[in-house]
Amino acid sequence: MDNIRFTALKSAMCRTRKTVEFPNRRASEYFGELTFNKVAMREFLTEEAFRQVMNAIEKGIKIDRRIADQVAAGMKSWAINHGATHYTHWFLPLTGATAEKHDAFIDPVEGGTGIEKFRGIELTQQEPDASSFPSGGIRSTFEARGYTAWDPTSPAFIMDRTLCIPTVFVSYTGEALDFKTPLLRALYAIDKAAVDVCHYFDKDITKVFATLGWEQEYFLVDEALFLARPDLMLTGRTLFGHSSAKDQQLEDHYFGTIPQRVISFMQDFELEAHRLGVPVKTRHNEVAPNQFECAPVFEEANLSVDHNQLLMHLLDKVAKRHDFTVLLHEKPYAGVNGSGKHNNWSLMTNTGENLLSPGKTTKSNLRFLTILVNTIKAVHDHADLIRAIIASPGNDHRLGANEAPPAIISAFIGTQLTQLLNIIEKSDKKIKISTEGDSGLLKNFPKIPEILLDNTDRNRTSPFAFTGNKFEFRAVGSSHTCAPAMITINLIVADQLKKFKAEVDGLIEKKVKKEDAIFQVLKQYIIESKNIRFEGNNYGDEWMKEAAKRKLSNFRTTPEALKALISTKTEKLFEDNQVLSKRELEARYEIRLENYTKKIQIESRVLGDLSTNHIIPIAIKYQNTLIENVKGLKQVLDYQTYGKLSHNQMETITEISEHVDKIKTYVHNMVEERKIANKIEETEPKADAYCNKVYPYFDKIRYHVDKLEMLVDDELWPLPKYRELLFMR
Ligand code: ADP
Ligand code: MG
Repeated sequence: MDNIRFTALKSAMCRTRKTVEFPNRRASEYFGELTFNKVAMREFLTEEAFRQVMNAIEKGIKIDRRIADQVAAGMKSWAINHGATHYTHWFLPLTGATAEKHDAFIDPVEGGTGIEKFRGIELTQQEPDASSFPSGGIRSTFEARGYTAWDPTSPAFIMDRTLCIPTVFVSYTGEALDFKTPLLRALYAIDKAAVDVCHYFDKDITKVFATLGWEQEYFLVDEALFLARPDLMLTGRTLFGHSSAKDQQLEDHYFGTIPQRVISFMQDFELEAHRLGVPVKTRHNEVAPNQFECAPVFEEANLSVDHNQLLMHLLDKVAKRHDFTVLLHEKPYAGVNGSGKHNNWSLMTNTGENLLSPGKTTKSNLRFLTILVNTIKAVHDHADLIRAIIASPGNDHRLGANEAPPAIISAFIGTQLTQLLNIIEKSDKKIKISTEGDSGLLKNFPKIPEILLDNTDRNRTSPFAFTGNKFEFRAVGSSHTCAPAMITINLIVADQLKKFKAEVDGLIEKKVKKEDAIFQVLKQYIIESKNIRFEGNNYGDEWMKEAAKRKLSNFRTTPEALKALISTKTEKLFEDNQVLSKRELEARYEIRLENYTKKIQIESRVLGDLSTNHIIPIAIKYQNTLIENVKGLKQVLDYQTYGKLSHNQMETITEISEHVDKIKTYVHNMVEERKIANKIEETEPKADAYCNKVYPYFDKIRYHVDKLEMLVDDELWPLPKYRELLFMR
């Protein structure tokens, strides 16, 4: 019988391109048709209900009960018209995946018939049996009540004939149990703080919303090969695998022609995404073989976070139709590039301006500088928190792996802006700022050139890079939700802008002219946050040394990095801005640590099982063949020839034994360490034990398994090899 690898390879070799059933309509005709968008609302809601929903979206005004019933009725008709049979509250619990529990619209009535029912109460609030979602101790199972509540700012949509209603998820006692609740609070905070600061420059600005445009990287692997790798299946990454003779060294995949089977897959998920109003726009090959990227047009941050979540789900679902599996893991293969999710972030005003776009007038340039410098100051002050929110076992492999930003947080702004900040830093206090005229000059300063917008001056190694009219946060992992990144960036900038306003107002009270006051505070911030700016190569060793000199943190592992989540500084930040309470933060810390421990525990088990049950038996089987062969040679050859020719065979036999012996010893020791770690009750030392005692065996074991892969007969090897996983499509 074939081994499982060969069975999988045979399936993978016979794949053909699947045809995509395109609707007979233009994209502009079906874009968003499965969302309860403005057009649908106009058609299906009463005038009054429509106005209230718009008020809720634009001004955060609560929708009253009576109107909620009207909205529910309209939404129901719309959904049923589009084939929906069920509805669900769709939320983002702290597992990082989306959660849904479907209920049918149909309700039996007397006489054995039924009618579709959906009332305001079902739209606005639900009580899912939520005892199994992580709560970090906030909600013990005996009082397992958690509520979901409708978020009208993210439109309901239909997926798999189910009306999905985006909601927040909170505990009975009002604590956030999800990502959306603190995200909405952080977005409120940035709106308020930025509007207040914008009033120094423009009274017409009444609303500022954060924008997010993500870039999602992922790997595709043939499903049969995926299923033949228990490590991929159970942990999302390969725990073994000798590198392929060819991988990404020729760099011939990046931006290359997209393979036909992959194009079909992309067209298929893009079609679904577009019908759901997810504005995916760009697709291309990434650096590693079988790695790809997809990016949308940016949107308001809350919506964009939901859309990324939806897209990750679609990728997974649609891939199955094409006999692919999508790997969203940050580092599925050792030795080739991992996957990230760049979060492009900016601030937009109700007047349609991008606050991170250098302007044409002095006034708008001073405003631009204000937002830019405050953002850098915020990153400087909360670098450890930023590092904490992107920490995960998957990202631990990727950060600092010479392909992704290092674990050291720094910000890049480009040569021209650096020059400008340097001039401001060195300028004396009496410098005159004229807001008259519109030459685009800060008097006595160089012009902020518009060429910035061309993205010519880019640094792809920086974790937080200014790219002309937005910041690109590049350290987020490909499997993460964008929510923690968006909560954090908006929160720290909001907090910073509040402090800025207080300082400027203080000076104005002391009769300093407004522009001078702004300038003075900015100058002080530029000096204070200088350490966080780095324009060089973030991948180089030089930077490690330089960063150490600057006393910037460099947390290499998740348990170390996560500690910043519960520092006094972080707690104050979240509490002052009413985004999360101390208790909620502590709960999140617990959950993240537990998640880390569980993931390493699972990996360690899979590693042990595979070594013992897959690898060692095959190695011994092959070794036995060699032994038989040597014995045979002894029978047929004369003594001298045998002595000469059996030498190499004997060496291989010994080598195999040595590797097997090492693997057995290391697996044994790893299991012993696991037993010790499992006895630890407290979350923190337990995670530390997994990180520092169990995890170090992974590479040791892998080294010997990968050596065996090179020694053992290819026909016996049970796990699909890197060359097959990476190149078959
Ligand atoms: P890259 O060179 O980093 O791959 P792309 O052009 O592919 O750049 O991606 C840029 C991303 O930035 C897109 O997702 C785009 O929507 C987003 N973006 C552009 N402008 C803004 C903005 N003002 N706010 C947020 N995101 C933006
Ligand atoms: Mg990018």
